[in-house]
Amino acid sequence: MENNIVGRHLISDLVVQTFKEDINTTLQGIISLHPIEYAILTPDLIIQKTSLGIDKFSEPQAATVGHDIRDGFPELIGLEQVMNNILEKKVMSFHLQGVAREVLDQSSTHHDVYIFMGMDGDQKECLVLLIEDVTEQMKNRQILLQAVNETTLLMMSMTDKSNYIESLNKNLQHIALTDSLTKLANRRHFDQYLEMEWKRMAREQKPLALILCDVDFFKLYNDAYGHVAGDKCLQEVAVVVAENVKRPGDLAARYGGEEFAIVLPNTYIQGAVQLAETLRQKLAIKAIAHSGSPDSQIVSLSLGVVSVIPHQDISINWLTMEADEALYKAKNTGRDRVISADHL
Ligand code: GH3
Ligand code: MG
Ligand code: MG
Repeated sequence: MENNIVGRHLISDLVVQTFKEDINTTLQGIISLHPIEYAILTPDLIIQKTSLGIDKFSEPQAATVGHDIRDGFPELIGLEQVMNNILEKKVMSFHLQGVAREVLDQSSTHHDVYIFMGMDGDQKECLVLLIEDVTEQMKNRQILLQAVNETTLLMMSMTDKSNYIESLNKNLQHIALTDSLTKLANRRHFDQYLEMEWKRMAREQKPLALILCDVDFFKLYNDAYGHVAGDKCLQEVAVVVAENVKRPGDLAARYGGEEFAIVLPNTYIQGAVQLAETLRQKLAIKAIAHSGSPDSQIVSLSLGVVSVIPHQDISINWLTMEADEALYKAKNTGRDRVISADHL
């Protein structure tokens, strides 16, 4: 084994082999022990000799002697770099699994491909492709894995088993309720939680507060830095939100694209405004550059806050509309500020 110089992530294994003798002799030896398809290529990738069945692997005629192998397997163009590295002796050979499977998989069969340099009958360098159909092994591997999983479950005690299943379910539930970009609660989780807390606060006659936050001029941020940077920026804003929403009953969620919502059970307006102001300031301290912003050159938040003790005459809709209206006012009066529904 030598160090794999290129494509470590592409290629699962590297087999180093040198063939000093005529590759044809070596191939005969290999094939007599282990049936395998092969192609011998000139350094400019023209097929010199091959066992590949024309209709099995490629368009008619394309995989025949005298043709460029890439005519028959256009996907191999991506492997040119690998082949060049072999020819330039940066590496001796490659063993391709996942990639080659897709490359050569025209009949839903799996293949392993080994590529290495050899010497042809005239003692000239050539490239050798050994192509092994591993479809059956793949199937067997899957059956074996499934059997191992099932046996593990069978061998577990009933308690272990139910703990195991419970933790699987919890994991699934967590995935279903989490926003994948920001790792905050997702909109579904927010909706469920808000409804539950609305009912609970109605029963207990305690205040329920809601903060809606919206990143200012975020379209311009994407325009200035690109969507990937935009996503990263949303993650940073989410960290500020998560770090400052700490009480066990509070829930911070991604409400929509660049909007966040925080549910605060048992919280009066003063407390909610204070938290909203903290979020605004903590984000300002981070000073995430926003050269496209017409105002401050850093990323800022506008926040709308509402708190109410639920009663018969109002609904959750009323709560979100009030918060939305406050947010709208924060936007219209200069952004980068907190407005509470009390002050509408
Ligand atoms: P305002 O200050 O009035 O809120 O202006 P704005 O540009 O933030 O508001 P607008 O609603 O016009 O644009 C929101 C932008 O947020 C548009 C959209 O492309 C972007 N956005 C929404 N979700 C995502 C996301 O998941 N990733 C990224 N990168 N951008 C997003
Ligand atoms: Mg918005
Ligand atoms: Mg916005």
